[in-house]
Amino acid sequence: MAEAYLNYIGGRWMSAQSGDTFESHNPAHPSEVIGVFPRSAALDVAAAIAAAEEAHQAWRLVPAPHRGDVVLKASMIIESRKEELAVLMTREMGKVLAEARGDVQEAIDMGKYIAGEGRRFTGQTVPSELRDKFAMLIRDSIGVVGLITPWNFPLAIPSWKIFPALLCGNGIVFKPAEDTPAVATVFVRILEEAGVPPGVLNLVHGFGPEAGQPILEDPRVRMISFTGSSEVGRLVAEEAGKRLKRVSLELGGKNAILVMEDADVDLVVEGALWGGFGTSGQRCTASSRLIVHQGVANRVTEALLERVRALKVGDGLDANVQVGPVINREQLDRIHGYTEVGTKEGARLLAGGKILSANLDNGHFYSPTLFDRVEPTMRIAQEEIFGPTVGITSVTDFDHAIEVANGTQYGLSLAIYTKDIDRAFRAIRDLQSGLVYVNAPTIGAEIQLPFGGIKGTGNGHREAGFSAIEQFSELKSVYIDYSGKLQRAQIDV
Ligand code: NAD
Repeated sequence: MAEAYLNYIGGRWMSAQSGDTFESHNPAHPSEVIGVFPRSAALDVAAAIAAAEEAHQAWRLVPAPHRGDVVLKASMIIESRKEELAVLMTREMGKVLAEARGDVQEAIDMGKYIAGEGRRFTGQTVPSELRDKFAMLIRDSIGVVGLITPWNFPLAIPSWKIFPALLCGNGIVFKPAEDTPAVATVFVRILEEAGVPPGVLNLVHGFGPEAGQPILEDPRVRMISFTGSSEVGRLVAEEAGKRLKRVSLELGGKNAILVMEDADVDLVVEGALWGGFGTSGQRCTASSRLIVHQGVANRVTEALLERVRALKVGDGLDANVQVGPVINREQLDRIHGYTEVGTKEGARLLAGGKILSANLDNGHFYSPTLFDRVEPTMRIAQEEIFGPTVGITSVTDFDHAIEVANGTQYGLSLAIYTKDIDRAFRAIRDLQSGLVYVNAPTIGAEIQLPFGGIKGTGNGHREAGFSAIEQFSELKSVYIDYSGKLQRAQIDV
């Protein structure tokens, strides 16, 4: 019997009020049920929001260093249970175990980093233009924040949101992705064990339109932090905009590695393989485009093709496997649909392009897929596929490479391989993306720098780094007049 998991509302574990449930499955072995979860709806969300609103009042008054202590404790518990969490993640989401460990490590790192912010939570003091008057900026909580997350980083992304939101003193309603609810639940149990007071953090499982939408609509939720597809992100922005809510969006990407003719081809191939096929291409930062100078295009293509063909696909718990399953059947069909689109548009399919489920326990497996002769305007060069599919576009020179790289609606992560320092700096200057890598692929962000994108990837917010605190706190400008008389700014100066 699969484990029955629950919502966590007001410090109590409970079913959905309707009693309805849904299942989470292992994408490598879809007949294996990971757990049964409450299928929540508006009533459950309303209860979670009420609990968060009440608990927020006391939590915001707990000194920030003590809130940091709770975050640190949670991070230490995660560290002590790293392997168990990683195995659960591989079973529920499919990424290979080494990457699942990396996902858990990212949460540990984030916890440690954010805990330290409890002893900073920095404001500002500035001089007043008037005598005997003090001017300063302090931070406050926002109130109730709604956190909605995707399945591809089942622990890391929730930790990017929950840790800073807690540190800043907010009440939280957390709606994790319906494909990875078990990992989310274990995280919330750990936070409970670490001492998050009842009601401060509430977990509501379920599907987007049923359990996510009510969070967007409720006026008591003052801020939404959303990571997911651009399609849903647009809807989140609309709903939040109607109610003048603060909203932070981390959306899709169509990232590229630019390869100049002086690049180290072996290094490029290692990077392209890791960036393009790691996590089966299901990273918002996946290197799904290779933009290669025509002078090295053949060498890069041949060397990469050999390595792509050799990639071992299978259950991520098998240590020999490099490419795990994709998340679900729908996504598998979508990825295959893009192979058909690419072929129809005239790109050349060099490797892969096949659904492999039949030989692999009916799991959601797709063969690592490589196209070349990809024109920048083709759909496979413009749209996020979110699978193990990489397209190679040949370009004439550096300027052409930059133009092609910037020529999509997205702006998350772009990378350049070159040994020419001038070109590297020009690329850093001219690439239109929130993340830029030099001589490394487009994946692999570290939590101490802000993370996020421009253009269609987001709306200007950044997670992680110092900006995590910016995202989840309000600013309050304070003036203290100790002159004993009325002093009028701009007039009595
Ligand atoms: P998704 O947009 O389908 O779902 C994300 C979350 O939104 C889920 O929890 C879902 O239940 C919820 N949701 C769906 N409809 C909703 C609605 N009407 N109201 C409220 N919530 C709703 O995305 P996904 O398939 O889970 O994740 C993959 C996408 O996430 C990709 O596009 C990827 O690029 C993106 N992503 C972006 C980043 C980033 O930081 N930029 C990081 C990881 C993933």
